[in-house]
Amino acid sequence: MTTGSGPRPAARLIPAARYAERLAAGRELIAAHRFAAVLLGVGPDLRYLTGFVGDPMERLTLLAIPQGGPVWFVVPRLEASKAEATPLVRAGAAEVVPFEETEDAAIRVANLLSGARLDDGAAAWEPIGISDRLWAMHVLELQRTMPGRRFEPAGKVMRDLRQIKDSDETRLLGLAAAAADRTVDAISAGPLVGRTEAEVSREIRTRLVDEGHDLAEFAIVGSGPNSASPHHDAGDRRIRAGEPVVLDIGGSLSGYMSDTTRTIWVAGEGGIQPDLEFRRIYDLVREAGNLATAAVRPGIAPEQVDAAARSVITGAGYGEYFTHRTGHGIGLEVHEDPYIVAGNTAPLESGMAFSVEPGIYLPGRWGVRIEDIVVCGETAGTALNLSNRDLRVVRG
Ligand code: ZN
Ligand code: ZN
Ligand code: ZN
Repeated sequence: MTTGSGPRPAARLIPAARYAERLAAGRELIAAHRFAAVLLGVGPDLRYLTGFVGDPMERLTLLAIPQGGPVWFVVPRLEASKAEATPLVRAGAAEVVPFEETEDAAIRVANLLSGARLDDGAAAWEPIGISDRLWAMHVLELQRTMPGRRFEPAGKVMRDLRQIKDSDETRLLGLAAAAADRTVDAISAGPLVGRTEAEVSREIRTRLVDEGHDLAEFAIVGSGPNSASPHHDAGDRRIRAGEPVVLDIGGSLSGYMSDTTRTIWVAGEGGIQPDLEFRRIYDLVREAGNLATAAVRPGIAPEQVDAAARSVITGAGYGEYFTHRTGHGIGLEVHEDPYIVAGNTAPLESGMAFSVEPGIYLPGRWGVRIEDIVVCGETAGTALNLSNRDLRVVRG
C-alpha cells in the first residue's frame, strides 16, 4: 500500500542511561515535594521511568520509589523476566521484586516501605504519592495495608519531569509527526469521494502503522456537516464532492504520540470550489495557528499562546465557534501537561511539546481545524508537523 518509510530501529531507541537519569531527577523532586515515597502503576509514568510497556491489570505492578534507599519494581512472578529486561533495571537502578499468585501484593509493598524506615521520623507524616493511572482497586488495597498513611497524587512530580522533553523524546515526537504527515499527504491524494468516513479512517490507521507507528490511536474523519463536530467518530456517511473533510489523526511511535489535523476541500471531478466564507474561515484558522506558534518562547504563559490564537478568531466575529482550548501537551500521552488554555499561567520552558490546534465550527454546516505539534526551544517554537497548511483543494 505504501513504501513503508518508517524510521530505522536504532533511531527509535532510548538509551538505558537515560532512564537512570530520569529516575535520579525524579528522586530529587520526590524529596523536594516531601513525599515519603512515590508508587507508579502501569501507564505512561511507569514507562517514562522504566521503559516498561504493558497494560494495567488486576495483578499489581508498580515501581516503588522511597525518598531514600533502593527502588523496587514489584511485579507478578510471570512478568519478572519482562521487568528484568527494562532499561532501568538493566542500568542497575531498580531491583525486581516478584510476588506469587497466592500472595497479597499490597502487603508486600507495605512491608518494603516500612523496611525502608518510612515509618520513622519525618517520613512517617509525609504522604505517599500515587500515579494518576493506578487503578482504584489497587489504591484501595494499598490504603488498607497502610492505615493512617496519607495518599496524594504523584502528578505534580511526574508532571514536572515529563513536561520537559529530553532530546530522545523530541526526536521520537519528530519521527511520529513525520509519519503522521506522510499519512495525511497520502490520504489527501484520494480517492475520497463516495467512500465512507469509516473506510477512510481504516485506511488512515493502516497507513499510520505502515509509516512507522507502533499503534494507530485515532483517525477522525469528519466530512461535510460532521466536520463541525471536533471529536466526530468516523461513521457511515459517504464523502461527497464540494465539501470539506477534517482529518485528525495520530498514533504512537516507541510510545511517543503524533497528533495532527488538516482540513481539506474535496472538489470532486466537477471541481466544485469552496465559497468565499469557507476560504475566509480557513485563512482565519491558519492565521490563528501561525500567531499562536509565533508567540511560543520560554517564559510566556500558555494562556497568552491561547489568547494569540483566540484574538484573531474573536476579532473576526467567530469567537463563540472556537469552542475548545488552543492545545494540549503531548508525549507518552496524547493529552498531558502543559495545557494551552486560559488560566494556565505556568510559564513555558524550553523542551515543552504541545499542540496548537485552533478551529472554527459552524453547527450543521462545516468546521475547520488545523493542528501542529510545536516544541518550545531556547528562543522560539518549532512546528514538528511540516505538511502543507495551505488550503488543499483536492479532486478526491
Ligand atoms: Zn482533540
Ligand atoms: Zn488532534
Ligand atoms: Zn490534539
